[in-house]
Amino acid sequence: MDRKNVHPDTLMIHTGHDPHEHHDSLAMPLYQTSTYVFPNAASGAARFAGEEEGNIYSRLTNPTVRALEERITALEKGEGALAFGSGMAAVSAVLTYATKAGDHILATRGIYGCTFGLLNLMEEKYRITHDLIRMWTEEEIEAAVKPETTVIYIETPINPTMEIADLQAAVNVARRHGLTVIVDNTFSSPYIQNPLEIGADFVLHSATKYINGHGDVIAGLLVGADGEKITDLRMTVQKDYGGIMSPFDAWLLLRGLKTLAVRMERHTSNAGRVIDYLKTVPMVKEVHYPFDADNEQASIARRQMNAGGGILSFTIDGGLEEAQEFMDSLSLVKIAVSLGDAESLIQHPATMTHSGVPEEDRTAMGITDGLLRFSAGLEHADDIINDLKAAFEAMKHPAATQSAE
Ligand SMILES: *Cc1c(COP(=O)(O)O)cnc(C)c1O
Repeated sequence: MDRKNVHPDTLMIHTGHDPHEHHDSLAMPLYQTSTYVFPNAASGAARFAGEEEGNIYSRLTNPTVRALEERITALEKGEGALAFGSGMAAVSAVLTYATKAGDHILATRGIYGCTFGLLNLMEEKYRITHDLIRMWTEEEIEAAVKPETTVIYIETPINPTMEIADLQAAVNVARRHGLTVIVDNTFSSPYIQNPLEIGADFVLHSATKYINGHGDVIAGLLVGADGEKITDLRMTVQKDYGGIMSPFDAWLLLRGLKTLAVRMERHTSNAGRVIDYLKTVPMVKEVHYPFDADNEQASIARRQMNAGGGILSFTIDGGLEEAQEFMDSLSLVKIAVSLGDAESLIQHPATMTHSGVPEEDRTAMGITDGLLRFSAGLEHADDIINDLKAAFEAMKHPAATQSAE
């Protein structure tokens, strides 16, 4: 299949699998094996010497995992990919690969909690320091580059405030200084944003989220703009640190990926309907969403994303007590961290995902006690809205239901 003339919607169903190479099986088979039998001793030696193609051991390659790696490579428009046992295994592998002791990493303010934990660990153990900045403009990024900076690490949209980092600006600065740009694309999925096309070097996913989409796998994927670097990473950091993906998880992800396009469209339209509703509720003070007209960064978002996606956050009037009362009044919408599942999920960043961030930093990032993050599921939008409506109505707060007169 010529990737250039085929849409992503089609690539996510077909890439990486030729039925006629697998007993005509329509679905990619699950190769649940740890090792491979060499036809003879010389062939085993040739595979180890890199002189013959073929599998050796499943920590290095596995056909089911390989199919998934090819598929995500096509979707992110890269040259190669590696699958990991979790999103964090992908983050730690690429950061280990791209840095050495004494380096400095420039990262977006508000990165995923465990990525923040990893940066602190790298500082403690290997003197790899970091600074967290907004990355709204090229000047802001340029000013933060130090002589020892080697990596720009970006998450956009930022969780849970939905701030946008400017990918083109970061790439421009990186080119001037020879830095490696790594983008965590979990929130958008490859259907909405393709950072390698803008000039990033690596893009990674917590495949636990939209890529799988069914809330039953923990997994990570890393895609590179340079296939040689991916091969190098496979045979060094991934092989020796060992955080690989199991064949069964790869099989589930191949299945989940087939519906990514239709899921992202419904996630996005449901998020839009929820936002329209929330804006009519007097108790809701602010709604945060990449494409929202009130978002001063919407123009950057529209340049690098082709849709707003399924995640939003909103602030309700009040503090922790009101936020918890609201969540406890929901029934269809589930209280859970994670995102990108068929089920609509809500969580309270200040006491859940961002509880480890010092209060001063949380406040600076706009994570107040009234902020809630919402991952729009695939249910009928009317049912989601009715559940939110019933929860507001159940609250004692005077502004929960009365219309703004
Ligand atoms: C969930 C998440 C991760 C970590 O992924 P795991 O699969 O849980 O290890 C990293 N980055 C972002 C943005 C995430 O949402």
